[in-house]
Amino acid sequence: MLLQLAFPQASKVELLRLTVGQRDSVLLRLRELTFGPTLSCVGECPDCLALGEREIGIASLLGEPPPNPGRVDFLFDQDGFQIRFRPLRGTDLHLLRRARDSEAARHALMACIIGSCSRNGTEVEFKRLPDHILDDLAEAVADSDPQSEVWVGIECPECGAEFDAILDIMDFFWREIAAEARRTQAEVEYLVRAYGWSAPKVLNMSGERRRLYMEAAA
Ligand SMILES: [Zn+2]
Repeated sequence: MLLQLAFPQASKVELLRLTVGQRDSVLLRLRELTFGPTLSCVGECPDCLALGEREIGIASLLGEPPPNPGRVDFLFDQDGFQIRFRPLRGTDLHLLRRARDSEAARHALMACIIGSCSRNGTEVEFKRLPDHILDDLAEAVADSDPQSEVWVGIECPECGAEFDAILDIMDFFWREIAAEARRTQAEVEYLVRAYGWSAPKVLNMSGERRRLYMEAAA
């Protein structure tokens, strides 16, 4: 939905085909244009459970674009296993909503992204892959689309431990939009009551102007 607002000319199918990393890069840029270039990331210290916070510039989170952004076919080759896969797309994640448990979710994702899977030339069912291969494959999938996993280093204010917190820009940005919507709603209700204006008239004002009228009415 956000991408459609950002790229009104693009078709829905084109947008759904973006990899998670491509999608998240766009969301980071969109967040930058909407609420500014700095994110305030909060994470829980794994040692003492205190909350740590870090301000981080979006520019520093946007890595170099991958060398082959259009590439869809990657080969994982390890211990005789040869697995062809593509990076995850936003649409693949939708399937997770229907999965009963994490095992089913993992299988659903693998069915999406694995093209072929063999060991020493013999076809293998991906559900039978050993755990260590699955773990390494998961890493290879993340590496194939570097921007799909963004980690932010945070220092704990209590015990000083340094830890990494994952930044899910979609969730982050959506919460900010929801908070902004609630704030706008409250402002509009306040000004409608204070001045007797219509809600559409108040909504059409800039946020700055609304706040000036609120101060004047207070
Ligand atoms: Zn701590």
